Amino acid sequence: MARKRSDTLRKRHRTLIARGHPPCAICHQPIDYTIPYPDPDSFVVDHKTPFAHGGKDTLDNKQPAHNRCNRVKSDRLEQPELRQHYTNRTW
Ligand SMILES: [Zn+2]
Repeated sequence: MARKRSDTLRKRHRTLIARGHPPCAICHQPIDYTIPYPDPDSFVVDHKTPFAHGGKDTLDNKQPAHNRCNRVKSDRLEQPELRQHYTNRTW
């Protein structure tokens, strides 16, 4: 039940963020909102503070981003365990 409500909220936020076609909040380049996901240049909703870092599923914690920009950011912020795993390795 809660999950269903949350998905609806997410869709509403996505629509609100896409309205006015703002540029990417990460690289500041325009986003082509006609490109379908999961194209690297497609529009995605980025969380300013990721869930893993205590970010909330609220509109103020969301911003528009390119799929590729969001992915680069995720690699840096959202997978500390994975990174640690790799950096612990002796090359
Ligand atoms: Zn971007």
